[in-house]
Amino acid sequence: MTQKLGQHFLKNKRVAEKIIDSVALQDGDVVFEIGPGHGELTEKLKIETGNLKVISIEKDEKLYEALKNQFENNGEIEIVFGDALIKLPLLIEEQKESKYKVVGNIPYYITGYLLRVISELNNKPERTVLMIQKEVAERITMQPPKMNRLAASVQFWAKPTIIINVPKEDFSPMPKIDSAVILLVKKDNRPACNMEYYYAAVRALFSQPRKTILNNVYENIIMEGDSEHKKKKIVTVLEKIKINPQHRPQNLSVEDIILIAREFFKVS
Ligand code: SAH
Repeated sequence: MTQKLGQHFLKNKRVAEKIIDSVALQDGDVVFEIGPGHGELTEKLKIETGNLKVISIEKDEKLYEALKNQFENNGEIEIVFGDALIKLPLLIEEQKESKYKVVGNIPYYITGYLLRVISELNNKPERTVLMIQKEVAERITMQPPKMNRLAASVQFWAKPTIIINVPKEDFSPMPKIDSAVILLVKKDNRPACNMEYYYAAVRALFSQPRKTILNNVYENIIMEGDSEHKKKKIVTVLEKIKINPQHRPQNLSVEDIILIAREFFKVS
């Protein structure tokens, strides 16, 4: 059970403080916490609760009961029982204030899925602070020529920064790998591209990361004509938007992907 829910509780109080600092709480904020566990972060949020609305989602029933007893008495913190992957988007939709923040020392097994859930929300969090695997945190912050699917997905809407590396010894029980706290700050400007087109382009371009941009586009769009004609057409368009068809997807910036999305993935 413990293993299944990725329960590694944070022992280092200084790191907990750093996480809460990075959320940059302000009066009136709505904060969703994922996987409160024994309340290591919840406690700190509670201290800060001047005028906050905190909603913590926990999947372990026993921990949920304990959290309820510990925090819900005076109604400062709402404890929700369930899977954050399902509850978070529902709760975000339900709440009236449009701006909110997300924080959590999350179980590793949900990292990829959770980032996808957040990336696909219409209304993205202002700030997201998550404890995740160090290697995944590094992957999210990569730039061309080390772009990857995860970096391209997250950087579409957020600017990622690694706040602090956290050694495995800071947790109990100790996980097998080191962690890092990542901060995602929502980008101000509305991206110049529809989210669905953009993610369709990301899926296509990184479907075979070692192949060329040309081949990934070619294999993922429907276009009239024989293969030679089709490839020629794709090359012409890529050159028009100043993208080298022979480069790998890892060379693409978010702006490049937006251009590709507009040209090729609008009707998918
Ligand atoms: N926040 C605590 C605990 C982190 S361990 C701390 O800082 O120490 C991860 C926590 O997430 C555990 O409490 C685990 O039960 C919970 N959890 C696991 N999967 C979850 C899910 N899908 N949704 C919500 N909580 C989950």
